[in-house]
Amino acid sequence: MTKTRNIAIYGKGGIGKSTTSSNISAALSEKGYKVMQIGCDPKSDSTNTLRGGRFVPTVLDKLRSGKKIETSEIVHVGFNGILCVETGGPEPGVGCAGRGIITAIELLKQKKILEEFSPDIIIYDVLGDVVCGGFAMPIREGVAEQVYTVSSSDFMSLYASNNLFKGIKKYSKSGGALFSGIIGNSINLPINEEIIQDFAANTKVTIAGFVPRSLTVAKAELQGKTTIEAAPDSDQAELYRNLAQKIISNENRYVPAPLGTDELKAWAESWYDRLLEHNNNQGQQATEPVKSDLKYYELKPDSAKARVK
Ligand code: ADP
Ligand code: MG
Repeated sequence: MTKTRNIAIYGKGGIGKSTTSSNISAALSEKGYKVMQIGCDPKSDSTNTLRGGRFVPTVLDKLRSGKKIETSEIVHVGFNGILCVETGGPEPGVGCAGRGIITAIELLKQKKILEEFSPDIIIYDVLGDVVCGGFAMPIREGVAEQVYTVSSSDFMSLYASNNLFKGIKKYSKSGGALFSGIIGNSINLPINEEIIQDFAANTKVTIAGFVPRSLTVAKAELQGKTTIEAAPDSDQAELYRNLAQKIISNENRYVPAPLGTDELKAWAESWYDRLLEHNNNQGQQATEPVKSDLKYYELKPDSAKARVK
């Protein structure tokens, strides 16, 4: 690979961005690529499972110290030689997290860190449920060429993805990044692929893959490792390898068609009705879930693939 491939992975907080990003990075490093992962989330734990579960000093921490910054203080080598960077965040209650990301990425540019290491692939793991210019930086400034979103079938997660689509659409006119696919990920309930597929069809985007909820992921995390490192022979590790391969060979880049606020609400309500009808047809107790909360639908795991009328 000659040119660095910049990939940004967005999604709502806690949806599995860092888990997915780190496993993709680990899988790509196994394939021989030189990978850098840049965590752009004030949580600063993006690269923990690439580094034995440990937090690394962040770019903003180092900047705040006021001392001269050595590259080795902000670029930390992790699993299989993966270069790990955490932009960090502001001190709680002070300053703006998005602004911190801009400052950190500017420092990486200033210090010519990307040129120094010339990675084949850079993965930006970006908190994406904040509508803020700083978090949009990897899209806006043409930093990333390809953008993915990690999403479950929960409404708030799809809502965050829809907001991301709005941001991509806005900046696409001025050379911003383009979208390349949804990565469906399940953290609590079994994922309802059909809801994500329908959302994708409505917003004119593609799906890069689905990652099921897995105990192997949780166990690996407790050991401070990615699934690729902790359970290399597991089905879940193979799944991450396939996803990584798909991402690296994915040439899709396009502008999504985000739904307007009312359209999104109407779409979500249509699913509420379908899910309720489906559960009633399945002979399940027709308890009335809270109308605004799609999260508590009662689908059985094996019904996720069944076509709901
Ligand atoms: P984010 O980076 O979006 O804030 P994380 O990657 O930190 O989210 O994931 C949040 C939690 O969900 C973590 O404890 C992680 O281990 C867990 N998790 C994420 N994806 C899966 C999965 N496919 N199966 C099981 N647990 C998962
Ligand atoms: Mg994270």
